[in-house]
Amino acid sequence: MPRPIRVRFDNAALAHNLARVRAAAPDARVWAVVKANAYGHGLLRAAGALRSADGYALLDLAEAARLREAGFLHPILLLEGVFHAGDLEIVDSLRLTPVIHHCAQIEMLEHAALRRPLDIYLKVNSGMNRLGFKGDAVHRAYHRLSTLAQVKSITLMTHFADADGPTGVAGQLASMHSLTAGLDGHWSTANSAAILRYPQTHRDWIRPGIALYGASPFPDQSAAELDLRPAMTLESELIAIQDLAKGEGIGYGFIYRAERDMRAGVVACGYADGYPRHAPGTNAAGAPVLVDGVRTRTIGRVAMDMLYVDLSALPSARVGSKVVLWGRGMPVDEVAAACGTVSYELLCALAARVPVDDSIA
Ligand SMILES: *Cc1c(COP(=O)(O)O)cnc(C)c1O
Repeated sequence: MPRPIRVRFDNAALAHNLARVRAAAPDARVWAVVKANAYGHGLLRAAGALRSADGYALLDLAEAARLREAGFLHPILLLEGVFHAGDLEIVDSLRLTPVIHHCAQIEMLEHAALRRPLDIYLKVNSGMNRLGFKGDAVHRAYHRLSTLAQVKSITLMTHFADADGPTGVAGQLASMHSLTAGLDGHWSTANSAAILRYPQTHRDWIRPGIALYGASPFPDQSAAELDLRPAMTLESELIAIQDLAKGEGIGYGFIYRAERDMRAGVVACGYADGYPRHAPGTNAAGAPVLVDGVRTRTIGRVAMDMLYVDLSALPSARVGSKVVLWGRGMPVDEVAAACGTVSYELLCALAARVPVDDSIA
């Protein structure tokens, strides 16, 4: 038998979440964002479950090639465009839709000998200052691209820095309008947070990522409240029980000490499986975890292959008791918040060594 840790993926949840996103933006077409191995869910598995999307968005040419090799004929948006002139040959042969966010990419396109012209996305920097053209450079880039034989269509695209936070989208949306005034083309602006909170951002193509995987983009609204279902459940078991006498520490550094006689469980899951080592585990605070369906907390410092849980409220827990680190019954958003990060980071970091349980839960 392998170590008892395993991950389950729920394809029906992916399909449900896609339907949920479509219902929120009924007039928009959907790029299902499957970058970073579909946020840790497995590129081909997720792409299959999200087959009814209008296209896939990612940023690694090798991942685009895997989708094509697996027979997916959907449009594929390359979120960062190409990195080297030679990449355009692959873009051309795989019929990808590159983002153009920098003058160097326009030059590469000007010099490319393509078999057929490409649909491209012109990235506008409306305030996030990550990628894209700003100021007069937007019009200059647009006009330069619109004269190229290599370009079939131009979609105007931007990305919001704080659609999930207090700043919102109004400022960036206003700057998108003024920067692109007079330019024809479809628009694509909305990530999950904008899709769910700001209908005025929907326009022609939306780009949901995290919502498809069943986590909330918002710190102040849960996935369940948004009717999103978790697509990844990370499970394990107790492999040992320790009786701690009052004052005894547990794990590296003794960051937790028993305040009374108590039982602690040792879980077969550690940072080499993708569970964050910076999860809290002092006497003051732990991360939430389910043991035999009962909510408890982590104690002590997460080790490479193991972590510890408080069994004070679980007198019948024993070796073999089921543990849910996140997923069904234990929202990944709550674990992430306890660890000072976001669900995205936990999902993407799931380690390749964790076996996938393909049986239906
Ligand atoms: C990752 C990404 C998205 C998806 O964002 P979510 O917050 O996961 O919905 C959309 N657009 C771009 C450009 C991205 O990089």
